[in-house]
Amino acid sequence: QYLFKVLIVGDTGVGKSSLMMRFTENKFLENYICTVSLDIRASYVELLEGKMMLEVWDTTGDERLKSAMPSFYRGAHGVLLVYDITSSKSFENIGGWLKEIMRMCPDKLNVVLVGNKCDDLDHRQVDPEQALQYARRRGFHSDEVSAKSGENVYNLFRSLTFDMHDRIVRH
Ligand code: GDP
Ligand code: MG
Repeated sequence: QYLFKVLIVGDTGVGKSSLMMRFTENKFLENYICTVSLDIRASYVELLEGKMMLEVWDTTGDERLKSAMPSFYRGAHGVLLVYDITSSKSFENIGGWLKEIMRMCPDKLNVVLVGNKCDDLDHRQVDPEQALQYARRRGFHSDEVSAKSGENVYNLFRSLTFDMHDRIVRH
């Protein structure tokens, strides 16, 4: 049985906590507010090789400050780098988050670029092709998901887990 530590990073409001809730409890709460500064929840993904446990770490409030805690990044195996497809600002800030991850995590980890809120296409501000190119240039997978509808959320965690397992266990 394996346990992988997965971080969710990105600007306030992109839907990090909602993604965590959707994955760990299969719920979407329109006004979910977490009162603790660090929320850690576990769930699992099924691969052919068996059940893989994921410990998902989410920060609240001043994300940039909280995530600067060494304990947040320490020992992480994977990161979901989340932006909101209805906010070009949140996509522009991805670079800053990436820099932070590279500074805090000297060891290799698997990164997935995640465009959340894909249920709200009417308000789309981020070109999916641009996001795909951004991820490709850096060797990351990328995906669009919706914590609200649940679309693609399990798939996202599953494909990240597949990549982590492939890197850590098989090699
Ligand atoms: P966080 O600050 O990154 O943790 O973001 P939250 O999870 O608190 O979500 C911020 C806001 O976006 C809340 O009002 C959520 O209801 C909303 N939200 C989160 N995920 C989605 C989604 O997939 N689609 C839509 N339409 N709204 C979402
Ligand atoms: Mg949150």
